[in-house]
Amino acid sequence: MKQKLLLLPGDGIGPEVTAAAAKIAELVAPDIEIGEALVGGASIDQHGVPLTDEVLAQAKASDAVLLGAVGGPKWADAERTKRPEMGLLNLRKGLDVFANLRPAYCFEALVDASTLKRNVVEGLDLMIVRELTSGVYFGEPRGIDSDDKGVRRGYDMSIYTAPEIERVARVAFEIARGRDGRVCSVEKSNVMESGLFWRNEVTALHKAHGDGVELSHMLADACAMELVRQPKQFDVILADNLFGDILSDTAAMLTGSIGMLPSASLGIEGTPGLFEPVHGSAPDIAGQGLANPCAAILSMEMALRWSLARPDAADRVMKAVAHALKAGARTRDLGGDLSTGAMTDAIIDQL
Ligand code: ATP
Ligand code: MG
Repeated sequence: MKQKLLLLPGDGIGPEVTAAAAKIAELVAPDIEIGEALVGGASIDQHGVPLTDEVLAQAKASDAVLLGAVGGPKWADAERTKRPEMGLLNLRKGLDVFANLRPAYCFEALVDASTLKRNVVEGLDLMIVRELTSGVYFGEPRGIDSDDKGVRRGYDMSIYTAPEIERVARVAFEIARGRDGRVCSVEKSNVMESGLFWRNEVTALHKAHGDGVELSHMLADACAMELVRQPKQFDVILADNLFGDILSDTAAMLTGSIGMLPSASLGIEGTPGLFEPVHGSAPDIAGQGLANPCAAILSMEMALRWSLARPDAADRVMKAVAHALKAGARTRDLGGDLSTGAMTDAIIDQL
C-alpha cells in the first residue's frame, strides 16, 4: 500500500512553505501519495471550526502530517474554541503526539553570514526532546479563584505519571543511539516533587533500557545557563513540557533564523507524526514570496526520517539544503534576496 502524507498548509505563509516542501517530497519520494486539507483560520472560514472531525480522521489515517502554520490577525479576537491555534492543539491531542523533537543545528554555510553572526554557534548540533501532552500545561486542578479567606489566586498543577515519563524518555534514548549517544535529562528535582519523580523514573528506565546511552541530569536553570555558555556540550536534551518549551526557544536562537528551524512531534510507533516549522504564520510577510521555505523543507526531512522510514531520502534533502546554502542561496531573513520559489529551486538544483 502506498504511504500517505497529509499536507495541512494552514494560514499566512503556511501555504507558501508547505508547497515548497511538497515539491521536494515529490522529487525524493515520488511514490508517496500526497493529500491536502484545511486547518486553522482557513478551516474556520470554510467550516466554522479550526479542525473538522473529517480532517482529524484523515490525519490519523495518514503516515505523516506536514503542517504549515495557523493563525493571523483576522481570527485573533475570536472566542477560544474558534481560534486557529485550537486546531493545532486538537490535532496534537488527537494524534497523541507526546514527544516533540526540536533539533538545533547550525548550517556551516551560515556561520559567516554577517547578518546572523551574532547569534550563530558554529558546529552546534543538538536535539531537544520535549514532552508535549502532559505536565503543568494540562494538569488539574487549575484555575483563577479565591481561597477560603477570599484571597484571589491563580494556580496550575505539575503532574507526570510514570508511563508518560517512560514513553518520552524511550524516544530520547532511541534518538541518542542514532547520534552521539548522550542524553541530558532536565528538571527541578531540588524544588519540585514532580521533578524528583521525573529524575528517578528516567534513571530507572535507563538502567533497564538504556543500552548504548550515557545519561546525565541537570537542573533546568543550570541547563539554560549552560545552553548559552557552552551549547556544544549537549547531544540530546530530554525535558518536560514547560522546561522543554523554554529551552528549545533558547537553543533556537543559537542557530540563525527562525526560518531554518523544523520540528517533529511523535506518538507511539506506527502512528503518524506531526511535522511543522517552528515559525508561525508570519502575517507581516504572507503572500509576498518572502518566506524562507527551509524550516518547512527540513520538517519534511524529519517526516521522511521519523514517520516514513526513508532515511536515504531524508539525507538527500538535508544535503541539498546544506549545499544550496553553501552555494550562496539566501532568502531575505538570511541576508539575501531570493524569493520562496527561487530558494526552493536552488535546493532542488542540488538534489
Ligand atoms: P506565532 O504566534 O504563530 O508563533 P509569531 O508572530 O510569534 O507567530 P512568526 O509568525 O514566526 O511568530 O513570526 C515572527 C517573525 O519572524 C516575523 O517577523 C516573521 O516575518 C518572521 N518569520 C517567521 N517565519 C519566517 C520565515 N519562514 N521566513 C522568513 N521570516 C520568517
Ligand atoms: Mg510565536
